[in-house]
Amino acid sequence: MKFHVMTLFPDMISAGLHTSILGRAMDAGIIELKTHDIRDYSKDKHRHVDDYPYGGGAGMVMSAEPIAACYADICEKRMRRDRPRVIYVTPWGKPFHQEMAKEMAEMDDLIFLCGHYEGVDERVLESIVTDYVSIGDYVLSGGELPAMVMIDAISRMVPGVLTNEESGMTESFENNLLEYPQYTRPEEWNERKVPEVLLSGNHKKIAEWRAERSVDRTMKYRPELMEGAVLDKKTAKYYREHYVNEK
Ligand code: SAM
Repeated sequence: MKFHVMTLFPDMISAGLHTSILGRAMDAGIIELKTHDIRDYSKDKHRHVDDYPYGGGAGMVMSAEPIAACYADICEKRMRRDRPRVIYVTPWGKPFHQEMAKEMAEMDDLIFLCGHYEGVDERVLESIVTDYVSIGDYVLSGGELPAMVMIDAISRMVPGVLTNEESGMTESFENNLLEYPQYTRPEEWNERKVPEVLLSGNHKKIAEWRAERSVDRTMKYRPELMEGAVLDKKTAKYYREHYVNEK
């Protein structure tokens, strides 16, 4: 899978993503990352990429032309007939979530547009963008961190990026549940013991314990997720007995 990122800070993207699991996946050629410096497409001799907002108001707005030229260059080199998926990361976009990451991981390539200043001239957004995505209800200075967050989450869902041991299938948000608590050695730390059942070697009991703790954690931190969770018979009984007021 190939990620293109249109940005004013290409080094931030490369440095931030070329580590750990993603770095390994890039070295193995499973995912590819290409940054595109929007400033390289400015026709201005000072390489300006922004201008004052029409109608007045604070700050600057990223101009349409350098972004459109950058996009045209990516499309030309991409050598495909289908329209590429272009994601503008923005606080007013649809909230990003795990199902979106999974769906996007099925694409051959994705193009990200990182905004700065007060945002981007609406006309270029209308011309090239297919998806508007937010990583949360707060305002960051630029789109680089949101693009990196999304690329990390999407890459984890691309087959071959995670090893079997790192499998994404048991992680939080799988089946709308949060992950159960995890423990590693030593067995006792600061007078706190690892739950007995995890030392028992009884895989059935361990699976049951984990399913129940997932329910507990989801109900404590994200109860609204529970509505979409599909529970096996035993876990559903546990949920009913502990969280639903019915006989
Ligand atoms: N004036 C814009 C508004 O009120 O919606 C905010 C612009 S913000 C300072 C600059 C850029 O950062 C945005 O164009 C966007 O690309 C990115 N950005 C900031 N917060 C974000 C968020 N929560 N999710 C995704 N992108 C974000």
